[in-house]
Amino acid sequence: MKISFCGAASGVTGSCHLIETDKYKVLLDCGQFQGGEDPDAMNRADFPFNPAEIDCVILSHAHVDHCGRLPLLVKRGFKGLIYCTDATADLVDVMLKDAAHICEQDAERDNRKNTRAGRPLVEPLYTTNDAMDALKHIEPVIYDTLIVLNEQMKVVFNDAGHILGSAIIELWVTEGENTSKIVFSGDIGMKGRPIINDPTIIKKADYVIMEATYGNRLHEPNKESVDRLLSIIAETAERGGNTVIPSFAVGRTQELLYQLNKVYDGDTPYTKRLRNVPVYVDSPMSVTATEVFRTNAQAYNEEMKDYILSGDHPLDFQGLHYSKTSAESMQINVDNTPKVIISASGMCDAGRIRHHLKHNLWNEKCSVVFVGYQAEGTLGRLLLDGAKEVKLFGEAIEVNAQIHNLEGFSGHADRDGLFEWLSGFQKKPKKIFLVHGEEESKNAFAEFVRERLGWDCTVVHHFCSFEIGGEDGGPADLESAEEEFAGKESVEEIRERLKNALSDVSDVIDNAEAATDTKLTSEELVQLKNRIAALEKEIINLGATVSK
Ligand SMILES: [Zn+2]
Repeated sequence: MKISFCGAASGVTGSCHLIETDKYKVLLDCGQFQGGEDPDAMNRADFPFNPAEIDCVILSHAHVDHCGRLPLLVKRGFKGLIYCTDATADLVDVMLKDAAHICEQDAERDNRKNTRAGRPLVEPLYTTNDAMDALKHIEPVIYDTLIVLNEQMKVVFNDAGHILGSAIIELWVTEGENTSKIVFSGDIGMKGRPIINDPTIIKKADYVIMEATYGNRLHEPNKESVDRLLSIIAETAERGGNTVIPSFAVGRTQELLYQLNKVYDGDTPYTKRLRNVPVYVDSPMSVTATEVFRTNAQAYNEEMKDYILSGDHPLDFQGLHYSKTSAESMQINVDNTPKVIISASGMCDAGRIRHHLKHNLWNEKCSVVFVGYQAEGTLGRLLLDGAKEVKLFGEAIEVNAQIHNLEGFSGHADRDGLFEWLSGFQKKPKKIFLVHGEEESKNAFAEFVRERLGWDCTVVHHFCSFEIGGEDGGPADLESAEEEFAGKESVEEIRERLKNALSDVSDVIDNAEAATDTKLTSEELVQLKNRIAALEKEIINLGATVSK
């Protein structure tokens, strides 16, 4: 079996890895390159494989740097299924349509210039139609369920705690007598964060493909970042300025709303100071993505599920406005009331955030707050690195606003989080491949792992391939792989469990009705209520899948 790293090899974007056996070719992610020297050329380049020969794609999560080249893959001949969790399926729909729209707008703008300069016109990287074609290949699955891809491969999606629907992939590959287990971390989230679950610890793997975005960094605690954010917003508003927050439309934006909801709808030291500071979420995608968060409660952590069952929704509060149309977006910069503007893209390389930066960066009363990773070569990174002047829409804009970086909001585990996840493997994997990180970060993490665990990591630097499986390190432990399959619940088993829960409830009702001459006792009522609550939770867990 062969594994080839076709993206997120030398940087953090463009995640794409190919697993090949004698019979099948499976792709892990198919992401878009962002930032760097010439991302457009990298995205347009041929894939280092023939898309028509790929049997299926396993998608870890809905971020564009993991799914953004799927429309190109399909356009260039891919015919198979794209497996992802149900919440990811909903989010990918939003993300790919938005990404296509950005490609179309970029091409339109370039072509206006090209026409004036007498240069040939360019095609968009892909169109909305290409995105729609790709979406037809999506096959939603649920967490913790064993899925048979073909007679050689089985896969389980585990919660990665990175964004809603994000997954850590366990992939069992059998070639001849040998079964090897590959674990692909996708992007690993931070522990103890609101809305979503902690990343799943996986205990066994022969081969690990692991992200190392923050392999050399420690985040400040989330609580400190939240406090700093509130004080920045309050102070900025008090001096008459806006707080502009470039934020990934999916994940970070909803987490910010969750934290702001606690203050705006709550009774905290900041509630009074912020009461008159409206919050605008300005990105057509953030609006739709937030809708997806509302309808995918099955992927939430227990705290959020209880919150929703209590009747309140944590992504809604007094003073929160969503702007969908560009007219609404422009209105935000016309009115002078100090406000919070949350807009995408998170790295400032596209989208409406660029307009807001143009209108606010020059103003020393304003603040720009980064809450996510800024890749090398992006406008966000330039600002973080202290640029005094930046170019926006061909215009030079002075940077006078205060620039803040709050790493405690990061959706990625920091060095200790990554290490904790890797330490979860009970036995040293045969190989650990580090991807999805800048050079210093991957190298530092490899060094850290060597010192603490004595395990060697293979740092992936560029597009390259490795032979793995039988020949490398002897036959894999087939028995233990089968043992692991046995522990995973199949869709049929889940369905059975749900049916049993339903019949439990109907039994309680039948029994109550049978005793026609006596009223339900309070004990019976409590029993009924508990059964229904348990069932409700079950239904929330399965929600999206059952309705699909
Ligand atoms: Zn991600």
